Amino acid sequence: MYELITNRNDIRNELIETVRCFVTDPQANCSVNFTYVQGENIRIFIAVNFKNYRYSFPSHCESDKIEYSRTDVYICKLSLYRALSEFFAQTLAWGSLTGIRPTRLAARMLNSGVSFIEIAEKLQKNYLVSKEKAELTVEILKAQSKHINDRISLANNGSTERSNLANLYVHIPFCPTRCSYCSFVSEGVEKKSWLLAPYAEALAEEIRRTKELISSQNKRVFSVYVGGGTPTSLEPESLYKVLSVASVDNTEYTCEAGRPDTISKEKLHVMCECGVNRISINPQTLHENTLRRIGRGHTVEQFFAAYELSSKFGFVKNVDLIAGLEGETPEDFEYTLNGILKLMPENITVHTLCLKRGSADAQTETVRTERTQDMINYSVNALKARGYVPYYLYRQKQSTGNLENIGWCRNGFLSVNNVTVMEELLSVYACGAGAIGKLLAPGRIQRIANPKDVLMYLEQFEERMLKKQIFYQNQFTTHA
Ligand code: SF4
Repeated sequence: MYELITNRNDIRNELIETVRCFVTDPQANCSVNFTYVQGENIRIFIAVNFKNYRYSFPSHCESDKIEYSRTDVYICKLSLYRALSEFFAQTLAWGSLTGIRPTRLAARMLNSGVSFIEIAEKLQKNYLVSKEKAELTVEILKAQSKHINDRISLANNGSTERSNLANLYVHIPFCPTRCSYCSFVSEGVEKKSWLLAPYAEALAEEIRRTKELISSQNKRVFSVYVGGGTPTSLEPESLYKVLSVASVDNTEYTCEAGRPDTISKEKLHVMCECGVNRISINPQTLHENTLRRIGRGHTVEQFFAAYELSSKFGFVKNVDLIAGLEGETPEDFEYTLNGILKLMPENITVHTLCLKRGSADAQTETVRTERTQDMINYSVNALKARGYVPYYLYRQKQSTGNLENIGWCRNGFLSVNNVTVMEELLSVYACGAGAIGKLLAPGRIQRIANPKDVLMYLEQFEERMLKKQIFYQNQFTTHA
């Protein structure tokens, strides 16, 4: 339990995020009083369980409103991090960085002329990020800088202008069973099987109209991503309906096939026929006991069979793993990673377990931080040793130990969708129940969400399509 009293309620959520990184034990009592005083200098007074800390910064006066607010939040979070770090005698690998994609911060520095070496130094000095994480961030930035502009200019007749490119995202909110840790928008197939075909029908129509909308705005689709949920929960006929209409010539086209038990030869044929060139097959772990415990509903053997079958179709393959699964030791994780490394998939994504609100085991929070940190450290070394390059990174709220998720690729197999979506480089036109579209403009992102409930999605279809059209045509008005 923690309590935060502050006169900066405008950034309360950011401050809470920092407190949460230190106060992970629900039984602990922590009272934080954060007071911000602006005078000739900015003075910050913090009391943690009545122990006092004070910090002072020169008043900043950036003319740019966004930059002013960034600096202000930075000062507040850094001060709070320092106080909590001293009080709990604990440092965090990502220092005062919470709720920020570290690579985006690093990219901002790069764009303002800071060199890679200086970026690593600044992350350590200004944000108290560990040397390893600072260097990892720079490595990722280098991988992205090397490929993304080339791919954008290739898609855009030699120009690196991004405003006329967009990503298309399609959401299939069904899974065979619900994993215990999941809080994505997804429904169990068994209870909702009657909805699958009508959903596919409506979704195909939304995709068709969305592509028309994109063209009418003189934009081109840069990449297509069909995710969920588990898109391969759909029967081949419905899958074809959706994938064929989402297909765009000469683009990176990904379809998640996360649950190995949903993959069949027929569905792989459908994907191939519709132009899908990347798939994701996700065992998460190679331990049967864990798979049962987390409700995955498939076996290790099914994963290997699905992987082998899909290899015959020539897709670029990604494999997702999770570090920090309940009951797993670092040795268990090493076994899983080494088993996957024998397959040498083009992409491996290592996630840190995230206990989110709404996940079945969110109440049973376990102390996994140290073990998970060991797992992540092991994965970094093992993947680098096998020639994999880290190419995107993001962190989620409530991830174990405030750690990160990292996408790794073999040379040349970076997913441009993952990078442009994670770094928010392009607008996203999203289709399907629970899908969130994003519209980008300098310094600003506007979002539009479809209803999460599938029935509501179907019922409100026409109304939502109209709102979507207005949203993308009249940029930056408010939409619920
Ligand atoms: S497969 Fe993915 S989306 Fe489906 S229940 Fe499991 S974690 Fe959630």
